[in-house]
Amino acid sequence: MLNIAVTGAAGRMGRTLIEAVHRSENEQLRLSAAVQREGSSLIGADAGELAGLGRLGVPIVADLADAEFDLLIDFTLVEPSLRNLEYCRNNDKRLVIGTTGFDERQKDTISEAGKDIPLVFAANMSVGMNLCFHMLKQMSEVLGADSDIEIIETHHRHKLDSPSGTALRLGEVVADSLGRDLNECAVYGREGVSEPRDRNTIGFATVRAGDVVGDHTVLFASEGERVELTHKASSRMTFAKGAVRAAQWLQDQSAGYYDMQDVLGLRD
Ligand code: NAD
Repeated sequence: MLNIAVTGAAGRMGRTLIEAVHRSENEQLRLSAAVQREGSSLIGADAGELAGLGRLGVPIVADLADAEFDLLIDFTLVEPSLRNLEYCRNNDKRLVIGTTGFDERQKDTISEAGKDIPLVFAANMSVGMNLCFHMLKQMSEVLGADSDIEIIETHHRHKLDSPSGTALRLGEVVADSLGRDLNECAVYGREGVSEPRDRNTIGFATVRAGDVVGDHTVLFASEGERVELTHKASSRMTFAKGAVRAAQWLQDQSAGYYDMQDVLGLRD
């Protein structure tokens, strides 16, 4: 039996994760704890009722230390996520992190923790998007040198970080495939720029509107043709199911820092 805790239980992803764990066809997976930030009016409420599933007998607690679990799934914010990482590292718990918005130093802290505990960290847990990452590598190698490359993303109006963690990851895949450093070739805005486009740059465009769950397009435009790789998430359940798949896979792994390419067996 794998006892799973979900942090940020009342958040958009938290509620979806509670449902995904509960509805998982793997009978070995069990929601054992749900955690919501201190001061929330939902502390003490039933996690199943919060997620619209009916009573599950799992009361929401304010502190991870009050939760019994083997593995934590964390989709919260940068600071709470790093605190939860620390807790799991100190208490030998497995961890799936879906939070986005970490800077490079914080990402290093996460990968360091992989020396002590098994953890999966992925800015996008969708199976389809992870297949896109895989195909993008080949597309970049074939089309990249001759194309202008732009990454366009759209998300709902509540999203805090931009560009999205997924858009940045797409940029990294392209840059790595072409032997470029994303920090040096990314262009995040063109207001006030009045010069022709530099072929070696990778452009990003961010749209925030309505209730869009997450659309990403990578555009390769050269003279005579355009190739677009587009992924559209229509429900948060795709991310939640990916996180549950990662949890299930992590059950059998030793300490290490993994991502969804490892979970899906797509690592080269
Ligand atoms: P949300 O705002 O709906 O939920 C955030 C949760 O974090 C809430 O439950 C909130 O109470 C909790 N929280 C906020 N501050 C806290 C604190 N100080 N201490 C403890 N808990 C705190 O956001 P969301 O849409 O559910 O997204 C959560 C995160 O997941 C974001 O970083 C988002 O970008 C990311 N995300 C990742 C994927 C993926 O596939 N990896 C998919 C969707 C969203």
